Amino acid sequence: MPLRAKVASSVSRTAGALSRAAGRGDGSVIGGWLGLKIDPDLLAHLAAGRAIALISGTNGKTTTTRLTTAAVGVLGPVATNSFGANMPTGHTSALAKAGNTPYAVLEVDEHYLSQVLDATNPHVVALLNLSRDQLDRAKEVAMMAQLWRSALVRHPQVRVVANADDPMVVWAVTPPVVQGQYVQGPQVTWFSAGQRWHDDSWVCPECGSTIQRNGEQWWCTGCPLRRPQPHWVVEDDGVLDPSGAWHKVNLQLPGRVNVGNAATALAVAAEFGVRPVDAVYRLKDVASIAGRYAQVQRDGRNIRLLLAKNPASWLEAFDMADEAPTLLSINARDPDGLDTSWLFDVDFAPLRGRQVLITGDRAYDLAVRLTVNEVPFQHVRTFAAAIAEVPPGRLEVIANYTAFQDIRAELDRVN
Ligand SMILES: [Zn+2]
Repeated sequence: MPLRAKVASSVSRTAGALSRAAGRGDGSVIGGWLGLKIDPDLLAHLAAGRAIALISGTNGKTTTTRLTTAAVGVLGPVATNSFGANMPTGHTSALAKAGNTPYAVLEVDEHYLSQVLDATNPHVVALLNLSRDQLDRAKEVAMMAQLWRSALVRHPQVRVVANADDPMVVWAVTPPVVQGQYVQGPQVTWFSAGQRWHDDSWVCPECGSTIQRNGEQWWCTGCPLRRPQPHWVVEDDGVLDPSGAWHKVNLQLPGRVNVGNAATALAVAAEFGVRPVDAVYRLKDVASIAGRYAQVQRDGRNIRLLLAKNPASWLEAFDMADEAPTLLSINARDPDGLDTSWLFDVDFAPLRGRQVLITGDRAYDLAVRLTVNEVPFQHVRTFAAAIAEVPPGRLEVIANYTAFQDIRAELDRVN
């Protein structure tokens, strides 16, 4: 590395370590920020010579990054970014700390994919899904897909692992036609992990016609865009690989969506030459991820924490949750997005018949939504009050970002 990059990298590591020692979080944002101030090309310098996978999408990227890191770990140590630090500052910090580690698996915020592709020149990029998320400040889904598409056109050599079930992802990966000629696109490995949320992909991003669905198939009624034949498929509680071999997936994480994330992880690892049969058993080691899916015992209740941030992830959370008393908590602080109107995009009907409790800064927004959806509920002011209201046994907690952090902090204080 050039001297400037060496100095920047060293400053980044030191700042991160100081921040951690001072108890100010994991230091990855401040460390990366300082490093990039000293050398704006630091991320590119740190990425050079490594085989890198980028994981991006609206939902599931933290979990899939963790599973992919475990799978690629068959080859040796793998650098990765810690929870939440999924912008270039976090990537810089993760690679500065990683020494000569030859492999890296990086979670990338979908808005930064283009920039991080340019800086890191990765071996493979995995594209999970695109759906509405914090529309008061984030991009419309079709704009996000366009941003990805433009970025991939600049990197025709990157290998792409992409979700065949999401029309917006398929379109983003499909090379555009310019002056009657197909632009050369990347080589794509398709996976099918199912897609429960369809409400951001009824209109074709290419031609504006309706997208039709029949079972797992989908196709545009006005142009050739349609579901590609997937190479990796979730089947029962396992994954079919491209050779037709089926691998049972044992996970500590709940829900079919996580079997899909496991399929993605195996597909990405295969791009590094890792055989699924060697990687699949390692996925079982991934448990709670920054508190997500954590299970805590308290007063005879087995409390499970599910993070859900946007309509698509709430739908998945209802599927993961057992038929048990369920506490919903919603805040609308800065990291959550200030607008809660998206609650009306979520169908809460799956909760009918369960004991439902609500809390959080914006519990009354939930109250209105549940009333409209004809789901009976009780409002509680604190987490302790929620526990007192439910019988011993399982309590599912579904919360958005800061509401989730509040509940984690309350549980940590006790346990
Ligand atoms: Zn179309």
